[in-house]
Amino acid sequence: MSFASLGLSAPILEAVAKQGYETPSPIQAQAIPAVIEGKDVMAAAQTGTGKTAGFTLPVLERLSNGPRVKPNQVRALVLTPTRELAAQVAESVALYAKNLPLSSAVVFGGVKINPQMMRLRQGADVLVATPGRLLDLYNQRAVRFDQLEVLVLDEADRMLDMGFIRDIRKLLAVMPKQRQNLLFSATFSDEIRQLAKGLVNNPVEISVTPRNATAPTVKQWICPVDKSRKANLLTKLLKENNWGQVLVFTKTKHGANRLTTHLEGRGIKAAAIHGNKSQGARTKALANFKSNEIQVLVATDIAARGLDIEQLPQVVNFELPHVAEDYVHRIGRTGRAGCEGQAISLVCADEYKDLAAIERLIKQVLPREQVSGFEAVNKLPESRLDTRPIKPKKPKKDHRDGQRSGENAKGHKPQGKNKRHVGGQGKSQNESAGKPSNRSGAGTGAPKAKPAKRRAPRPASVTR
Ligand code: AMP
Repeated sequence: MSFASLGLSAPILEAVAKQGYETPSPIQAQAIPAVIEGKDVMAAAQTGTGKTAGFTLPVLERLSNGPRVKPNQVRALVLTPTRELAAQVAESVALYAKNLPLSSAVVFGGVKINPQMMRLRQGADVLVATPGRLLDLYNQRAVRFDQLEVLVLDEADRMLDMGFIRDIRKLLAVMPKQRQNLLFSATFSDEIRQLAKGLVNNPVEISVTPRNATAPTVKQWICPVDKSRKANLLTKLLKENNWGQVLVFTKTKHGANRLTTHLEGRGIKAAAIHGNKSQGARTKALANFKSNEIQVLVATDIAARGLDIEQLPQVVNFELPHVAEDYVHRIGRTGRAGCEGQAISLVCADEYKDLAAIERLIKQVLPREQVSGFEAVNKLPESRLDTRPIKPKKPKKDHRDGQRSGENAKGHKPQGKNKRHVGGQGKSQNESAGKPSNRSGAGTGAPKAKPAKRRAPRPASVTR
């Protein structure tokens, strides 16, 4: 099968060829014709399957035939959970739209809002955004949705995990009812299905990865070790193996900082990426990692979500995640697009329960390899695979109801008086909940956004 046979026109095909893609990936083969036809799509696909091109290419195809975008308007909107994913998707959109007279923009929190407001005055055929910042921009009248034709929810499961459901619902309420909806999610929990019910209309359902499957090209194993010796074991593994780039996951932001300092003290170039880092520091760490200036990127789950680092050979779980599904997401960073990868987990006795939950989810006992000299004093019990089916999780309340998940939760109580309404003023709940990502200045030391002033957008010249 070729890209041409999917109904894409010459300028897009040229941009695709320039990327070196020869054949469409399975998700692209299924999603592209459906989206071009104008159908709603619900796709179960993880990062690494080529899903970004799967929705971007046909959306661009559709937009290339429509009217020009007006100031402050948007014709296609892609919502993503994290700043990094937003930046990445926006980069892909710009690449694929290179030969088309279409404009694109990206907005997310953690950076100044004013340049984004200025940019939106020109309107954007495609806008990639994180929900919190987009809602801010809407409330400040910097963006309008009258011209919206297509809505894409990318990594919808993670957006719900991060407590964005209310922001998403507020945004949905101000969008035109007549629009095409594309929903992409790594997993389809009951909660996602509930969201989908009110969103997609008679959708084409696509699934390219079995639920919670791990890529067969990833070699996974665990290293039993005492907690106190993990950092030294990782140092040894890094020094003795010819690993090249390594993405290391820790459970906490402080853990990521501590490990980075430990590695740097032993001559290993490392940087940490997590929600307490400024956007500038996160972007720099990622760029340095991609350009091989640093060997080890130490990340927390949320910061690493959706990162697309080409052919990452090595993922290390310095600590296992509490949520078993995160293990699948983590090791999905390697073994992409058929490339071989290795995922190693350093597991101490305290993590036995987390290990058992992961093994139950992925339906396999992970092989163990003992590194000599690092035998655990506190023995990790032998695994016994729990083959009972996993009950679907109950839909979670979002953080505004006092339950939050993810690294952004700081334990601050949501403050009712700061509740923000679409079209209203004041801080978003994310901000009042101490949620640093996707909000202007939050968590970065930057000044908080002033209450929204209603002002008419000023005209600006449009560059395409
Ligand atoms: P995604 O799942 O969208 O994050 O894409 C994962 C990676 O696959 C990206 O680096 C893309 O550049 C690459 N990719 C997307 N489509 C194709 C294709 N048809 N052939 C080869 N690589 C692709």
